[in-house]
Amino acid sequence: MNTLFASFETITGLPEIISYTFFFLLGAAIGSFLNVVIYRIPNEESIVFPNSACPTCGKSIKPYDNIPIFSWLLLGGKCRSCHRPISARYPAVELLTALLFTVIFWQIGFTAFLPVCLIFSAAVVALIFIDAEHMILPNVITYPLLGFALLVRLIYPLLFGASFFSDFKIFPLNVLHEYPVWLVSLVGAILGGLIGGGSLWLVGEIWKRLRGVDAMGLGDVKMMFGVGALLGWQLTLLSIFLGAFSGAIIGVFLISRQKDKDMQTQIPFGIFLGIGSIISLLFGEHLVNWYLSMFV
Ligand SMILES: [Zn+2]
Repeated sequence: MNTLFASFETITGLPEIISYTFFFLLGAAIGSFLNVVIYRIPNEESIVFPNSACPTCGKSIKPYDNIPIFSWLLLGGKCRSCHRPISARYPAVELLTALLFTVIFWQIGFTAFLPVCLIFSAAVVALIFIDAEHMILPNVITYPLLGFALLVRLIYPLLFGASFFSDFKIFPLNVLHEYPVWLVSLVGAILGGLIGGGSLWLVGEIWKRLRGVDAMGLGDVKMMFGVGALLGWQLTLLSIFLGAFSGAIIGVFLISRQKDKDMQTQIPFGIFLGIGSIISLLFGEHLVNWYLSMFV
């Protein structure tokens, strides 16, 4: 993925630390916007109007009290008007997105693929937190994510070549030399989508037939169609593996703490698939190469 890498310093002549600070601050600002998305989308409210307001007293938040991370700390986690606590989730999402954007810049560098990774990760962060709170992955995010992935897979190879997509190097895309690059890319996207969304759908169907319960939400299926379309089949399998692995560990932990052992524990699997997808996007190729070098 780093084949088109150009350092920020060589392009702009500014020290690298400025670019890291920039992406940290950009992440904090985007995190602040994601808070609005996470709070309003499940309630089917507009994400543009009105301005942010205190969830308790409804008083609108002044711009100087809306500085990411900083304002929450300065106000001691309380609303300036009603002094009731404001959830630590708000600064947490801002800090997480800030750190994530910094890591993305560190990994992807100043390349054409950078905005794709930033947009993809921001959407996945919103999905993770909405799933954690409401156990849903809204269509208004998963459908545009799929559309975005398909568009990138169509346009990027034409403009920048195939170097950003690791599935071009592996079967079946690596044998499709005589076809146009955009077509090969779309085949990779569809294959990735089917591996991501299709495999989850199949597992859910089998589980439903066997146990009579809905184990897999359609939201997870739709999200993984988008993830799969962007990442290709190999990194998508890795995303599901990482998601299932971390989800199983957390799940066992939650069930062991549960008093009523017969109760069905619902785990918002989208959280773990989301985490797996971001790790896979940023470090997937390294992980796969490391794994292959160990065992093959
Ligand atoms: Zn208030």
